[in-house]
Amino acid sequence: MNTIQLEKNISLSNFTTWRIGGPAEWIAQPKNIEEIKYLINWINKKKIPCNILGAGSNLLINDKGIKGLSLCMRNFKGIQIDKNSGIIEVLSGEMLPTLSRKAAANGLHGLEWAVGIPGTIGGAVVMNAGAQEHCISSYLESIKTLSLTGEYKTIKGKDLNFGYRYSLLQNEKLIVLSARLKLVSGHAEKIRLVTNENLHHRLKTQPYQAQTCGSVFRNPEPLKAAKLIEELGLKGLRFGGAEISKMHSNFIINANKASSCDVRELIKYIQKRVFNSYGILLETEVKQCGF
Ligand SMILES: Cc1cc2nc3c(=O)[nH]c(=O)nc-3n(C[C@H](O)[C@H](O)[C@H](O)COP(=O)(O)OP(=O)(O)OC[C@H]3O[C@@H](n4cnc5c(N)ncnc54)[C@H](O)[C@@H]3O)c2cc1C
Repeated sequence: MNTIQLEKNISLSNFTTWRIGGPAEWIAQPKNIEEIKYLINWINKKKIPCNILGAGSNLLINDKGIKGLSLCMRNFKGIQIDKNSGIIEVLSGEMLPTLSRKAAANGLHGLEWAVGIPGTIGGAVVMNAGAQEHCISSYLESIKTLSLTGEYKTIKGKDLNFGYRYSLLQNEKLIVLSARLKLVSGHAEKIRLVTNENLHHRLKTQPYQAQTCGSVFRNPEPLKAAKLIEELGLKGLRFGGAEISKMHSNFIINANKASSCDVRELIKYIQKRVFNSYGILLETEVKQCGF
């Protein structure tokens, strides 16, 4: 029997790390493939749109909310690790830090950089998440997907057109069900130490405990967005409840009940100031939904 809970008018603020966002018309958090298939049938019968969420760590959701179904994948979990071959099969709702820790515990090297990124595997593949010159695409063999019309497809990593914080999945809406990664065996204790060091470095350099979505802007390579914003003296600037972090200028903190509008106004202001001073248009890394 299907036990999926479909809830109506639930605030999405608890589904994003920014703690911002209005109500989802409908929301569901499937735990298995049967529940996902049921939801696909349901949206097709009802003819309503579907918006996919992972851990909401790279999303700015409109305070007015989102129409249709918000399909939150964060409960769709499971990891299988073959220590000998280095192959990991992981369901898309698993969190990157959990996977990074498990890989380290199995003496597998490759995901030490991922320990502090508070997103799901699904979100990481869509965004090609990365840090310290590494990114998920370097370790990805393939993904399994389900389309919103119910077709399954296995796609090789090399066919996802990965780039800096980019994959083809940003243009084509497919549900990422699972990922197959290949890591290499290494020295377990060394991997564990590097993983811990990476997390400590992050805690020292980023407002990790605050409500943020990580870096708001893509780096205009080879330059760093944070440096450009800092040079303009914008650290600590506030619009309503949204504040440019004093610790890391590419982070915007929800300092006091910020609205999506506060954040958007602050983003626009930063873009204007950076453009006027450097002639560079900062593009957002964060995805905006429902605007
Ligand atoms: C404190 C902090 C630090 C961060 N540091 C980094 C960093 O170092 N490097 C980095 O790259 N990012 C970083 N981020 C940003 C963010 O964690 C990553 O972009 C992450 O990969 C997003 O995953 P998510 O599950 O939260 O996706 P979400 O934010 O929920 O969604 C992002 C996009 O992926 C889509 N999506 C999510 N899951 C699925 C799925 N299963 N199927 C299909 N589409 C899906 C959504 O529709 C959306 O378009 C940071 C964020 C925070 C809050």
